[in-house]
Amino acid sequence: MSSNLDKERPTGVKPQQVGRTGLGPGGMCKCSSCGNVIPHERGTPCSKKPCPKCGSVMYRE
Ligand SMILES: [Zn+2]
Repeated sequence: MSSNLDKERPTGVKPQQVGRTGLGPGGMCKCSSCGNVIPHERGTPCSKKPCPKCGSVMYRE
């Protein structure tokens, strides 16, 4: 007995690299005074969020 397992394979398969770093789309907010870094919240500009440590203005990093 001879069985032919001749299955056609789709050759258009690309290995998708799903590698996510720690940096999200929002990035980070850094304090201009003490250097404290917090994750940036979507929809809220860093400049509108005072540093939780010292209360200074934060900027987007
Ligand atoms: Zn600060």
